[in-house]
This record gives sequence, C-alpha cells and structure tokens, in this order.
Amino acid sequence: MRHVAVIGAGPGGLSAAATALGAGAHVTLVDAAEQPGGQYHRAPAPEFGATRPDRLQHGWRDFAARRDQVLGHSRCTFLPETSVWALEGADGIPVVHVLTGPADGAGRRRRTIEADALVLAVGAHDTMLPFPGWELPGVVTAGAAQALVKGERVAIGEQVVVAGTGPFLLPVAAALLGAGSTVRQVLEANRPGRIAAGWGARPWQLAAQAGKLPELAGYAATLARHRVPVLAGRAVVAARGDGRVEEVVTARLRDDWSAVPGTERTVAVDAVCVGHGFSPQLELPVAAGCALRAEPDGRRFVAVDADLRTSRPGVYAVGELTGIAGAPAARAEGALAGWLAAGGPDRPAVRALRRRVAAGRRFADRLAAAHPIGAGWPGWLRDDTVVCRCEDVRYRALRLAADQDPRVAKLGTRAGMGPCQGRICGPTVAALRSAEAARRRAAAGTAARGGNPHHRPIAQPIRLGELAAAADTEHSEEPS
Ligand SMILES: Cc1cc2nc3c(=O)[nH]c(=O)nc-3n(C[C@H](O)[C@H](O)[C@H](O)COP(=O)(O)OP(=O)(O)OC[C@H]3O[C@@H](n4cnc5c(N)ncnc54)[C@H](O)[C@@H]3O)c2cc1C
Repeated sequence: MRHVAVIGAGPGGLSAAATALGAGAHVTLVDAAEQPGGQYHRAPAPEFGATRPDRLQHGWRDFAARRDQVLGHSRCTFLPETSVWALEGADGIPVVHVLTGPADGAGRRRRTIEADALVLAVGAHDTMLPFPGWELPGVVTAGAAQALVKGERVAIGEQVVVAGTGPFLLPVAAALLGAGSTVRQVLEANRPGRIAAGWGARPWQLAAQAGKLPELAGYAATLARHRVPVLAGRAVVAARGDGRVEEVVTARLRDDWSAVPGTERTVAVDAVCVGHGFSPQLELPVAAGCALRAEPDGRRFVAVDADLRTSRPGVYAVGELTGIAGAPAARAEGALAGWLAAGGPDRPAVRALRRRVAAGRRFADRLAAAHPIGAGWPGWLRDDTVVCRCEDVRYRALRLAADQDPRVAKLGTRAGMGPCQGRICGPTVAALRSAEAARRRAAAGTAARGGNPHHRPIAQPIRLGELAAAADTEHSEEPS
C-alpha cells in the first residue's frame, strides 16, 4: 500500500489527503496549526466554542465534511501542531523532518517521515511592500488582520484603512466591518483601466470560477451598506504617528505605481491593513530540489506539469505554491495531485479535475494581469525607510550594497538575517536590488547579482537543543 505524506492541511492539502485516501493510500497529513483549514478555513479558537462557524466563512459546510471524512479515516494519520523544518535526501522521496508541539514551546517531539510520495501544500505569506512608517505598531498585513478576525475574533483597530491590490482586500474589509471596525477607505493601487483590462478580456475563460462572483458581490454589498469608499489608483505611501500609527498619507498613483505629486491626502486611523498579493512559501520545495519558474514580473513559483508533478520525481506541489488563484483552485490541484500521488488510475473524473486545474491557472493569470505590482513603488521610499524590519535595515544601506555578491550584501547589511530569516522581506529586498541594478546598468553598465531568496535549509525555526536531540528521532516507514 502506498504511503502519501501531505504537508499542509489548507484547501489544497486537505483535498490531496481526501483523494489519496480515496485511491487507497495511507496518508500522513501534517500541519503546523492546531486545526486543519489553512488560511481560507481558519477555524475560530476552540475556546470560543463557536456553534455556527458556517455563518462567518464561505464554504464552511463542505470544508467541515471533507475535514471530518479525512481526519476520521482509518488510513489517515493527522499530525497537528507539527512543523516540517527540513526535507532531506538527494535521491528518492525526501525524508520529512518534523517537530510536534507548540511553535514557541520547549520539548517538542522530533521525528522523521518516509513516504512513497510527497504532496507539498504549504501555501503563501502575504506580500507587503514597505513605505515610510510601515514599521509603526498598528500597521499590519491584510492577511494578519484577516487571521486575527477569523481565528481570534479580534479587530485590529477602530478606524482602519485597507490598502494594497487584489480582490483579497474586500473580504478583509468586510471581516473588519463584521468585527466592529470602521473602515475609512479601501484603496486599490491599480487604476480602473488596468483592472478592467485584466479581468475583462476573454470573459468566457472565467466561467469555471463563476462561484467566486456571489462571494465577491457579497463583500461589495457589505462595503456599500457601510458606505465604505473604495478608490482605485490610490495607495498608502506613508504612515505617521507617535509610537503607533495615527494617520496615513495616501496618494494617487500612475499606472506604474509612482505617486502623482500634489495628490497626497491624510486620513486619521488607528490601524492600517496592507496587502500586495501573496508570495508562495518556497523553502520546502527548494529544499526538495524542485525547480522554480519565474513569472514575467519576477515572482517565482514551483514549476509543475499539468498533473502537478514537480521536477523532483514523486514530489507534487499544489495551491498557492504553483500560482496565486485562491481556495477553489487549490482544492482542484490538491484533488488531482493526491489521487495521482496515491497511484490512482486515470478516469473521466480525473480528466475533469485536469480541466478545473487548467481553469485555476487561467484565473491566476487574470489575477496577475489585473492586479500587478507597479515598478514605480520604490519611489515611495526614502533613504531612511526600513526595508528589513527584523534587523532595522534602511533602504540606503541596501542601495549601497546593490552590486555586491548577494551573500556579501546580506552579511554587510544584515537584511534577512533576523528572526524571519528573510521569509517576509526576502522577495522585496530581491526586487529592490534588481530595480537598483537596472538603474545602475542604465547609468554605468554594472549589475547586482541575484540570489535565491527562498534558499533556506531550515524551513522553520528550531531550537539548538531540539537539533542536538537527534537521538530522540523516531524513524517511521509506516504512519503511526
Ligand atoms: C494570512 C493569510 C490569510 C488569508 N486569508 C484568506 C481569506 O480569508 N480568504 C481568501 O480567499 N484567501 C485567503 N488567503 C489566501 C489563501 O492562502 C488561499 O486562498 C488558500 O487558502 C490557499 O490554499 P493552500 O492550501 O494553498 O494554502 P493554505 O490555506 O495557506 O494552507 C497551507 C497550510 O500549510 C501549513 N504549513 C505551512 N508551512 C508548514 C510547515 N513548514 N510545516 C507544516 N505545515 C505548514 C499552514 O499551517 C497551512 O495550514 C489568505 C492568505 C494568507 C497568507
């Protein structure tokens, strides 16, 4: 019997587990969180005793049914609160190293998992571009604000501006309204023409994602009911405050996201939620030796074929790792990959899944076309703007190091060397370096050398004591 290890129990991973079980495999499903669901179906903390979580989340009933079916299956081992901190081995399926226990607790249990196939479904971080004042308390990512509302029922502030780009801003604003905040404005950085061109071309290609429309219409209606202004072509370009955010400066943007002088406005707030899309968590695929593909805008994702196979035999990648297309696409990809990883035969239902996966890809392309990140955003920065929050690295230091070898620049500036290890600032730092390189190339023919901001042999923080406790490592061929 095949043993499939699925890393991540969000929409993608849970679907993969369900179909792998359906195809007759043993499944070990691993997730760092206490409960399955990932970002989309983030469950309220058990202490809240929520009796109707379906009233707060789209598609909760289907999710709960799938969750119960997977977790209750006799061939499924679910490892909650379990982080994969490394993948190891150049040949065959990588060995999965996990730690079980609270993320910041001591005495976590360390073990390894060996499987016949691996499905990586670890999702994304949200992307937040820096601007002057973004390090002030009260400035958070849109995803963090959403996670707090969904998981803890906590609104990040009373007077909030939600800004960035992409349809994700709408559920965040709606959730904040539901939690009692006043949303002063929702600002979409891309201009209406760009958004219309991105979504409007070849509309029939979006038919498969029509289910998203009522969800989006619901958010839009909520915003309209609360009279929240939604402005396109405007962004938060600075935050100010004494010890915490008190006001934001917004500005009208050109197509390339450079600010139009003279259009600045200030808005009084006690919180700002900013989201510029999502960046896939690529540490584990890179550790597994999976090839990446680059989008024209420089973003990187795991390279997969139409069946979600990566370049590493036996390793599949699904969900946000392969492209940003939301929960329905992640579910379709997970379902296909789980079935194939378990050795399930080709059937008409599998061909239908392939079509859903292809439709998800087209949706991802549309999202990227309608909500790109404009190249002019570094113009919002000042020399003293923090670009790496952990190590307090300023933009000027990064620019001065732009044509150094990436490792030398990292050691010299310390960008990406703090607790987040570049998970949050890495892609931004890389983008700023290449923008500076392009500027220098134009001026003097020099160029910054790139690096892979996702190369991180230790995927999750691990204590030295836990590393040293190698003798406790349990080696399991079969799920236990
Ligand atoms: C903070 C945040 C909030 C979001 N909220 C929403 C929302 O409200 N609505 C919406 O439409 N979209 C939301 N998204 C987008 C969302 O990521 C996708 O739509 C969808 O959830 C993607 O599914 P997935 O299975 O690819 O990944 P996810 O849902 O992100 O699931 C990935 C899972 O992998 C686990 N994981 C990650 N790394 C490890 C590791 N090393 N070891 C073990 N487990 C690991 C995580 O705990 C998580 O449960 C959010 C994204 C983020 C980053």
